[in-house]
Amino acid sequence: MDRRNFVQAGVASLALAGMNPLSVFGKDEKATGGFGPVTCENVAGGEGDLRMRFLGTGAAGWRAGSTRERRNSSILLDGKVLIDLTKSVLDTIPEGCHPEHLFYTHSHNDHYQPQQALALGVKNVYVSETWVDRAKGDFMQEAKKLNLPLPRFVTLKVGTPISVEGLVITPLPANHTTNFYEEQAQIYLVEKGTTPEHLGVRLLYATDTSGIMGKASRLAGIDEHRSEIPPRPITAFVMEATMGVDGDEDFRIFNHSAPNTVARIARVLTRTKRYTPPAGQPVYLTHMSNALHGHLPQDELNRILPLPLRAAYDGLDVVLRAMP
Ligand SMILES: [Zn+2]
Repeated sequence: MDRRNFVQAGVASLALAGMNPLSVFGKDEKATGGFGPVTCENVAGGEGDLRMRFLGTGAAGWRAGSTRERRNSSILLDGKVLIDLTKSVLDTIPEGCHPEHLFYTHSHNDHYQPQQALALGVKNVYVSETWVDRAKGDFMQEAKKLNLPLPRFVTLKVGTPISVEGLVITPLPANHTTNFYEEQAQIYLVEKGTTPEHLGVRLLYATDTSGIMGKASRLAGIDEHRSEIPPRPITAFVMEATMGVDGDEDFRIFNHSAPNTVARIARVLTRTKRYTPPAGQPVYLTHMSNALHGHLPQDELNRILPLPLRAAYDGLDVVLRAMP
């Protein structure tokens, strides 16, 4: 679909929902209509809710001092747990906030910069077993240079959950490669207050990845197969959309996703009741390439995205409410 068709499809779905496509999803506006207003942004949450700040929402290509570009993708959960960290997001970490836990998705340098983790004083670093030894070496080298203490390393295994700061975080395989053949990039399932009786919050944070791998969907409980892992809906969904709105056939297709990829997955999960978000909570796009999205302003991008997609932005605070 080219950009014009995509825009038309987005506008058509907004019209269907009784929404004025020109006035919805602006950065400071509330969406109205079939989807309902977005009610999860910049609000206070309850006790069982998960607070998520998008520190950065861009792909590689951020340049220091630029105000036009999205920072490298990174999130902060409950003010305590980071997923990925680069120099670009140091100014979007809330003041007085000292997260001690850092999970890495993979070792591309728009996600992984050991010197920044050391400078921030992160105490626990979580890395896939497929490249943890290399990470230790990188950190050692940087720690020596900066004369800073080394963090503790926790080795992650796909499908094995880790409990940290009231969250249960399960690494899942991503469809994404680096120059290191043995490295398995990861996306994450983040659960809070999830018990056999209660859903709580089940967030699928998926960057960087082309689509969602079968094994990841099975481990998260959102595929349609019968398997040993019982099906369990996710309640929140954040996914990368590196390729722009007309980028479905970009050559990065083997490693990244486009807004249409995310929309398709969101529709399937919704239809099969594998995605059951609270009212007013959209699917958030992140890891948007500045260049491939044509440096579109936030409002303009949101205007052309089909529901329930919404572009996150750097510094956005979202409350993911716990479900019964
Ligand atoms: Zn990458």
